[in-house]
Amino acid sequence: MDSFLRAACAKQNQIIACIRELVECESPTGHAPGLNKFTDLFSRQVSGIARVRRYPGGHICCEFALPGSKPTSKKDGQILALGHSDTVWPIGTLKTMPFRQVRGRLWGPGVLDMKAGLVFFVFAMRILLEHDVPVRRKVILQINSDEETGSESSRALTEAIARQSAAVLVLEPGTGLEGKVKTARKGVGDFQVTVRGRAAHAGLDFEKGANAVLEMARQVERIAGFTRLDRGITVSPGVIQGGTRSNVVPAMCHAEIDVRAPRAADGRYLERQFATLKPFDKRCKIEVTGGLNRPPMEPSSAVRKLFSTARGLAAEIGVDLEESASGGGSDGNFTAALGIPTLDGLGAVGEGAHAAHESVLINRIADRTALLAKIVAAL
Ligand SMILES: [Zn+2]
Repeated sequence: MDSFLRAACAKQNQIIACIRELVECESPTGHAPGLNKFTDLFSRQVSGIARVRRYPGGHICCEFALPGSKPTSKKDGQILALGHSDTVWPIGTLKTMPFRQVRGRLWGPGVLDMKAGLVFFVFAMRILLEHDVPVRRKVILQINSDEETGSESSRALTEAIARQSAAVLVLEPGTGLEGKVKTARKGVGDFQVTVRGRAAHAGLDFEKGANAVLEMARQVERIAGFTRLDRGITVSPGVIQGGTRSNVVPAMCHAEIDVRAPRAADGRYLERQFATLKPFDKRCKIEVTGGLNRPPMEPSSAVRKLFSTARGLAAEIGVDLEESASGGGSDGNFTAALGIPTLDGLGAVGEGAHAAHESVLINRIADRTALLAKIVAAL
């Protein structure tokens, strides 16, 4: 058996215990006490093997002290592992969805997305340390607190640290029960469309009213038509609000539209399309704001090279590592857009992210942990 895999198997129970501790520390986005508690707990888990630096907004960076990684003799460019501490689950979720270890899986809020992935990385670093495996590059693990809501406050930090990095390993879960890594992610964004009409009494002054809800209904059909499934571009009107009471011709209607696109150029296509919106009822006015807020992660040659390295290393531990493209975004979108080789989906294998059946396959804990150790040692 591969020595990294053997070491990871030996640590499996410890890995599970650490995952449990993190899952039982609830940390929804925006909940500072929960996120701070999580950060304190995680800092204790890495104490002795990493120096933790805290940043405004509750983000942290852990710099690992690894064999052969003296700052002076370092190869150019560090390795950045990226993760997040926040989950989509509100405080109190544990009451109905407690941490459990049954049917070959670990269950609980945030276990897959992405607390298990963070723990795998820490144990991968422990394996390198305990086996005195020389690591040529400085290794940083950055954990953001706001990924689930778009990484507004962490984006600049992620980009600054990525610029000093030779490779980025994103610890988000893999795709499907095979745990495919992600070599492409769509860009993600939203547009806000506001229609301003003219209010009037729906009975006495019907003709004087310019109905903003009716105008929006017509526009929404047009907006949904910007979808180009053959090019992977999707446009989904998700929220509509308008009107005040049924007997008033509504003066205002507001819509939020989710957009996803595989290429940076598609973002410009969408902006051009939204700019063409013209009112059917000339008395109405249309305002459009928004665009892509996460650029797409396109499968560049640098990404392909990193994937083939990982694939070769996975084969050494008997895993046929496959790749996939995702419609969802992650912080890897930002680093890939800077041209830094980025491999995403290296975290846990399981299913049900953001859903009640969120779970991690126990029999894939050891090989994922071993693979992370092997990648860091090889780069
Ligand atoms: Zn995630």
